[in-house]
Amino acid sequence: MVKETSVSFEKVLEEVKSYIRKEENIDLIKRAYLCAKEQHEGQFRKSGEPYLVHVTSVAYILAQLRTGPTTIAAGLLHDVIEDCSLTAEEMTAKFNEEVTMLVEAVTKISNLKFRDEKEYQASNHRKIFIAMAKDVRVILIKLADRLHNMRTLQYMREDKQKRIASETLEVYAPIAHRLGISEIKNELEDLSFMYLDREKYHEIARLVEKRKVERDAQVKEMIREISAMMDEHHMTYRIFGRSKHLYSIYKKMRTKHKRFEEIMDLLAIRIITDTDTACYEILGYIHAKYRPIPGRFKDYIAMPKVNMYQSLHTTIVAYGGNIFEVQIRTEEMDQIAEQGIAAHWRYKENANYNSKAQQKEIEEQLHWFRDFSIMSDDVNDDAMEFMNMMQRDIFEANVYVMSPKGRVIALPNGSTPIDFAYRIHTEIGHHAVGATVNGVLVPLNTPLKTGDVVDIRTSNQSGGPSEDWLKIVKSTHARNKIRSFFQRRENEQRIAGVRKGEEILIEELKRRNLSVEQYMDKKRLESIIGNLSFSNVNDLLYAISTKSISLLTVIERLVKHKTSAPMNNNELVEMIRRQEANRRHVPSKSGVYVAGIDTMKITLASCCTPVPGDEIIGYVSKGQGVKVHRIDCPNIKKEKARLIDVYWETEMESKQYEVKLIVHSMDRNFLLSDIVTVVSQCKAGLNHVDSKVNDDRLTATTKMSVVVENAAHLKTLMANLSKINSVIKVERVIQ
Ligand code: MN
Repeated sequence: MVKETSVSFEKVLEEVKSYIRKEENIDLIKRAYLCAKEQHEGQFRKSGEPYLVHVTSVAYILAQLRTGPTTIAAGLLHDVIEDCSLTAEEMTAKFNEEVTMLVEAVTKISNLKFRDEKEYQASNHRKIFIAMAKDVRVILIKLADRLHNMRTLQYMREDKQKRIASETLEVYAPIAHRLGISEIKNELEDLSFMYLDREKYHEIARLVEKRKVERDAQVKEMIREISAMMDEHHMTYRIFGRSKHLYSIYKKMRTKHKRFEEIMDLLAIRIITDTDTACYEILGYIHAKYRPIPGRFKDYIAMPKVNMYQSLHTTIVAYGGNIFEVQIRTEEMDQIAEQGIAAHWRYKENANYNSKAQQKEIEEQLHWFRDFSIMSDDVNDDAMEFMNMMQRDIFEANVYVMSPKGRVIALPNGSTPIDFAYRIHTEIGHHAVGATVNGVLVPLNTPLKTGDVVDIRTSNQSGGPSEDWLKIVKSTHARNKIRSFFQRRENEQRIAGVRKGEEILIEELKRRNLSVEQYMDKKRLESIIGNLSFSNVNDLLYAISTKSISLLTVIERLVKHKTSAPMNNNELVEMIRRQEANRRHVPSKSGVYVAGIDTMKITLASCCTPVPGDEIIGYVSKGQGVKVHRIDCPNIKKEKARLIDVYWETEMESKQYEVKLIVHSMDRNFLLSDIVTVVSQCKAGLNHVDSKVNDDRLTATTKMSVVVENAAHLKTLMANLSKINSVIKVERVIQ
């Protein structure tokens, strides 16, 4: 690519005419130029040049990339809506909707103004990505625009230079890289590097320059040797040395912690030939003559990179001991290596060109592009998180694995079959039950390696992802999908709980002959939530369904808060009290009652020893009344038919409840006396305590029976016990 900073329209036309010949297409470009000329009349850039030079230079870059006439016309007009008086409607009337759509998309990206540094960073970058993902031509125009702006950045103020350069490095260079347009990527990186860190830039440039003569001589000698060998075998080839761009040297020094000399030890040569087979043949000759360094051979022809890059790479030791990186590829592969997407979809005038079909084809070929479009749709509004995801999942992805059908998926380091499954499809992720890697069954947390062929086993029986997966996955995409699954399930459970609470409350009102219509009124319900410390009615209904509040309390409050009652309030409350008293002749000693059953013997289960405030459930035992268990007691897990809803009495005299605890700790002197002290400080009773040193002679287990008033009291006690020096864990026992 010729790096021009100011190009005339004649030069653009010359370049365009080398591949666009239809009169109507040339005419569109010419009209776009005339319109831009008229609109930008009297406008100048910071460099002092007419503004028109910027747009013709952008069009020239687009022509060098061999883009179609619509794209070039839009390139010429890309600043017209923003900077001039032309409206979108006028543009459509003058040209066509497609041109306007492209210009508007580019304008939208330029208009993303930042309010403050931090906010601008993340949220704008995100918007840029999303705006560009819609149509690849928008990206090409924006890249050309940015490239020319970077080439002419010296006229800007220094703070602006730095901001634009860092945005280029963070947003535009990675995009160019992912689209495989490495010539633009390299130039953007080097220019940004120069403006961001002039000192380092010039230091590396000087070092490169210093060694240039010597290196050039070494490369020249190697080229001579290889050429002689190629001629001998009658191969078709071009061969040349290549230099690394400065930013890539700098990046290698920084990320691999290497000195300049270590990086520049490598000399690089590229051989271009005519067919795939010839590439392998040449590789064979080279390996026969020079010793290859093990582990450095890479076959990107058989397995292209995600940005479609294809080539053979090998590293060899030459006779003088110099180490050479050799790349072997065809002309076509070389074009794709330099211009990526642009080379792959060069405008073909006579072919039935269709921009929609092209976009679709691009998305199919560049899977990450599609992944990215999908991701940008469903991520929440957190811009920072979105940028992190882009960084991790797309730009820093460096494990390349394949589906059995050969689709290549790029994932962050350490990714597992679960990450892979979610990238293929959300539902595949949710229903994954197992995976094979290269035909072998593996656990779902196995880290994947480049080249692995991954096949996911799914099952409709699967109840969805497990929460452990959140600890296993490496890609933000998978993590988000799993999180939103649980979020949704929680919402569903809550909605069901609210509905159930409502049913329970209606049932209870009916049972007490209270008007459902009157008391289930929304305003009435709202009037009592504050006093019961709920923030909304649904919270109250949900609490009823989980029995964290007693129905009696709710009903009493509802009646008390009545404003226009057929009876006066006190009368009603009295009536309910009477009902209650009649209903339960013997107030239960346990502090628990069963709705609707008056004369049932109720006892607290000794296995899990519930205390007021615990979530509870009743078990109707044969001939022994109701046993009250904690809701998570394993002893009643399997019972379904004999379970019955039970409630804690709301107003009861303070009662004592015995609870068994186990304290795990390191063994030490005075441990037992510290425990006893804490129990008494917490005003809890102590019925029994037994401490013993374990077989390991290091740890101790203390079993105790304490007496508390309710769940809150117990919680305080357990928290204080855990704070005792050398205590590891305090557990509530279920026998
Ligand atoms: Mn511009």
